Amino acid sequence: MEQATLERLRPYRERVRRLAAELARTEFLKKGTVIRHYARCGNPNCRCQRDPVQRHGPYYRWSTKVAGKTVTRHLSDEEGRLYLDWIANRRRVRQIIDQIERISERAAAIALEVPGRSTARTARSRPSRR
Ligand SMILES: [Zn+2]
Repeated sequence: MEQATLERLRPYRERVRRLAAELARTEFLKKGTVIRHYARCGNPNCRCQRDPVQRHGPYYRWSTKVAGKTVTRHLSDEEGRLYLDWIANRRRVRQIIDQIERISERAAAIALEVPGRSTARTARSRPSRR
């Protein structure tokens, strides 16, 4: 690769490295979503029946798709709090990978440019195949 091309790619490579460093610090991941909700009990005299603020909870419910079907499970408080964190970690990992892919597409346009011929514009206007 030409020195000038390497120079132009450098900021893209640096951005990818920063994102990869964030990936390297990532800890546990959990698939799916956790919903925190409050509920009324079966006791007609309980304060939860009159006042929405007095409902019981929070309760945690986790759900994910398995082979196209939604699977749901009730969680303990401890599981609920833990999985909320791990699900946020997973979301961030996926954002980082998306960003790296977008940066890589732009880097490819530069890396594959033929000197003396402006191919960057035509490469961009072509529909991307995914
Ligand atoms: Zn109640």
